[in-house]
Formats: sequence, structure tokens, C-alpha cells
Amino acid sequence: MTKKGFNTINLHSDRRDNPEHGVLHKAIHPSVAYGYEDARELAEVFQGKRAGYNYGRQLNPTVTALQNRITAMEDGIATAVFATGMAAIASTMLSLLKQGDHIVSSAFLFGNTNSLFGTFQSLGIEVTFVDATDVVEVKSAIKENTRLVFVETIANPATQIADLAGIGALCKRENIIFCVDNTMTSPHLFQPKSVGASFSVNSLTKYIGGHGNALGGAITDTGLYDWTSFANIYDDYKNQDPQLWGITQVKKKGLRDIGASLGPEAAHHLAVGSETLSLRMKQACSNAQEVAEFCAQHPKVKQVYYPGLPEHPQHTRAKELFNGFGSIMSIDLVDSVDCFDVLNAMDNIVSSSNLGDTRTLAIPVAHTIYYEMGAERRSSMGIGDSMIRFSIGIEEVDDLLADFKKALA
Ligand SMILES: *Cc1c(COP(=O)(O)O)cnc(C)c1O
Repeated sequence: MTKKGFNTINLHSDRRDNPEHGVLHKAIHPSVAYGYEDARELAEVFQGKRAGYNYGRQLNPTVTALQNRITAMEDGIATAVFATGMAAIASTMLSLLKQGDHIVSSAFLFGNTNSLFGTFQSLGIEVTFVDATDVVEVKSAIKENTRLVFVETIANPATQIADLAGIGALCKRENIIFCVDNTMTSPHLFQPKSVGASFSVNSLTKYIGGHGNALGGAITDTGLYDWTSFANIYDDYKNQDPQLWGITQVKKKGLRDIGASLGPEAAHHLAVGSETLSLRMKQACSNAQEVAEFCAQHPKVKQVYYPGLPEHPQHTRAKELFNGFGSIMSIDLVDSVDCFDVLNAMDNIVSSSNLGDTRTLAIPVAHTIYYEMGAERRSSMGIGDSMIRFSIGIEEVDDLLADFKKALA
């Protein structure tokens, strides 16, 4: 049988599992607890000897259906979902890492992940930040206690692209977990498994949910990492297929200890949103390309950051790895132009901090999401004071171009 397409698999995933009444959408199950006729069955569910539900913090049928969708999108073996993208990253790391372990992280990082890794440092987990566009930098940071390398696909806001294939090969040689935050690309543009990633992280809040109406996060195990060689797996989770040791520990410890569980209503919104991921991504990428080309020739724009422009430092890499260049585009304005004036002159483009929405959103990054980290770290990440980040949406492109023409005039 030939493998079905991305959309076909996603659109029909909920009805594969014999849903009640033939529903096409998995039902929203609000029940926190589950009753058993035979108390022995309840005990077996607790002991992992029988599939089933016991308590909503750990598992919920609506949430399971979403996990299965994400696993299929990522071509992985299992997924754990959480209340937010940050909850997915924090719960995964806290479940798998111990004091004295070392992480190598891209220096070009989502601001809140950067903040989280600072917290890890205060808890005794070492973090080294490197320029992950070059695998040589990553390699030279690896030490005996390095357990994990963490990178983003297209970094926010200056769109640096990590040397994903090079780092994947390095982590395989060194037997280190390779965790790729796929939020900016989404599984429509890129599957981290293709470069040997152990985990793919997605903030479901962004492109997968796609409409800015629900928070969520996911971590998918690609099945490529050999968990039998990982020192931090608890014996309790070794009584099954070794491929599942890592994700089981993330689900058990991550959801139990930290409890940032995704609710069933949010899971439903995210699942419905995900059905149009490919259509939205295609339109948003095409719009972003046109807008980037317009900005690149505009005299009031000092620099454009967009991987689809030939002059982008990792343009060739993006072309080879991704099925499109994404919808994040940032610009630096010339010194005489104020970023607030430009934003305030836009009609269709909203000043807002989210990204991956259907609507085009824009934010002056140094003054908002990267304000707290200070000027020094900002400049090391390539973030100038006049930088505006756009998350290009799916409006008609002429309406977006009209906003840019007017605001930059
Ligand atoms: C937004 C984002 C996150 C965090 O996701 P939340 O759902 O907002 O917690 C993580 N990584 C990247 C790259 C993001 O853009």
C-alpha cells in the first residue's frame, strides 16, 4: 500500500479509532476520572499492564487523539502533549535531565526557552550557548556530561537556520539526544526525523493550531534514539519496548510531577486547526516571500531577514531541508525611521506578540519579547533596536503590501 499524503492522514485520523456514533471529530471528553466495573482492571491500568485511563492529568481520550495526529505528522513513534509549548520543553527536560548534566543549546533561541535554560543553570544543569548555524561550534562545546543538544529550525527573530543535518550526524556519532524545536517550520515544512533528531518539539499554539485561539505544546519521539544507552531512565520505565522508554518517562514524570496537562477543549481546537496546516503554510510562505522581496528593495529598510531571499546566509540550507521558507520575516529600519511609527501606520497588520496565526502580526522585538534579556545578549543574538518581526498571515498579499507601502512611505 502506498503511504497516504500528509493532509489525507491528518484529516481522517480521528475516525480511524472506531469513534462512538461514527463521529468524524474525536469527542471532547471532560471527565477527569474513569470508572471500572472490575477494580482489578483499574489496578492493571495503574501498573501499565492494561491500556486505559485513570486520571485526567495523565491521559484523556481527546488528548490522545491529538497526540496520534502529531505523531503521524512528524512520522514519529509517540507524542506527549502539554498545556503550552513551554510546558512541553520544560517537562521533557526536567523528566530526562539531572543535576550535573550538560546541554548544548543554540544561542539563537525563543526568548522564553532562553529564560528556562537560565533557570536550569540555577538548578545545576549546565548550559552552553553556541552559534548552531555551524556544527563545528556545537562539536567544540560537547563534553563528557553532554546529554542533549537543543536547536530551533528557523530562529526567532533573525531567522538563523541551525546546521540541522550536521548536528544530527554529530549527535548520532556521540550518542547524544538531539532535540529540535520545529515550531517555526511545523511538520508541513520539515520533519526533524529526516536529519536524525531524537525529538521534535512543536508549540501547537502557533502554526499547528494556527488560529490563536488555544495554547498547547507537543514533544514527539522520532524513534531514532537508543534509550538503552541513556543513563537517566528510571528502572520503572524499562519494563517495555526500549524505543518507548524516553517518551514514557516524559509522560509519566513530566505530567505527573509538573502537571501542565493539556485540556480536552484546547486539544479539540488544536486538532481542528491542524487540519488546514498545509493550506495555511503555503499561503503564508508565499505571502512572506513577496513581502520580503518588497522590503529588500525599499530604501527605508536597512536589512531583511528571510530565508527565502538568496542573500540570506543559510538560503541554500533552507532550500535543501525545508518544503518552503516559513512565514517569519524581520526587518531593520534605517536610523531615521521609528519602528513604532511604522507599526502604527499599518491597517491590516496587527501589533501583537503571537506568531503562526492566520492574521499577520508584528512586534518591535527589542522593546517587548526580548526586552528583559538586556542589550548585550540582544546584540549577541543579532537583535537591533529598530527590528520588527512579522508573522505573515494568509490575507490577500496585495492588502499586506499596501500596508508596507503606506507605513514606509
Ligand atoms: C512560542 C514558542 C514556544 C513556546 O510555545 P508556547 O505555546 O507559547 O508556550 C517555543 N518555541 C518556539 C520557537 C516558539 O515560537
